[in-house]
Amino acid sequence: MANRKQLKVKSKADFKALAGASGFVDQLSDELVLPEIATPQEAAPLTGDDALHKLIEGNQRYVEQKRTYPDQTPMRLAEVAKGQHPFAILLGCADSRVPPEILFDQGLGDLFVIRVAGNILDDAILGSIEYATAVLGVSLIMVLGHERCGAVKAALEGNPVPGHIFSFVDAIKPAVDKARGKAGDALDNAVKANITMVVEQLKSSQPILADLVQMGQVKIVGARYDLATGQVELIP
Ligand SMILES: [Zn+2]
Repeated sequence: MANRKQLKVKSKADFKALAGASGFVDQLSDELVLPEIATPQEAAPLTGDDALHKLIEGNQRYVEQKRTYPDQTPMRLAEVAKGQHPFAILLGCADSRVPPEILFDQGLGDLFVIRVAGNILDDAILGSIEYATAVLGVSLIMVLGHERCGAVKAALEGNPVPGHIFSFVDAIKPAVDKARGKAGDALDNAVKANITMVVEQLKSSQPILADLVQMGQVKIVGARYDLATGQVELIP
């Protein structure tokens, strides 16, 4: 079990020290007051394994049409107005059919969700994840791709795309290249390769995430959502 006390980041100054020259913290306003990290007494933060278990249980309720709609009462609204202690970070696709709070049966303040076409990584997304781990103390990051992802399909087809669409299509291309030629469905292979690539990018990300993973304080997993069944499966 990760010992929360080992987390060195307790203030903006600490975060700056840990973030080093990343530039992310320097962009924050000096007036911004970063929330204190949850202590076990305040919020009993979950370990990465416990958080993953909670997500899987919630998805099972969703699949079986046994949702409990937790943390959506006026009492919860008042509670989270005082501060947030999410138990998992979700980097998911912007696809309208893949909303994390619904498919994991969670509520207000439970998930720190970042959604972008193709569940890719860029500096702003990475900074958001660093904030949620190093400052908020979240122990689990899940990269959530999905079946028949249009962003991955565009990268696979490789046709010219208008406007800024290239920004996420290009980010997916290295995963598409890696999956090419493998047995089975080309699009699904590329979806899985893209999830795995982003997980690896996060695990090796300096200067914050790689250290937190190394210290056992953050767990990073990849998962694929099945559009037809609603089931989330972990990608090994
Ligand atoms: Zn998608």
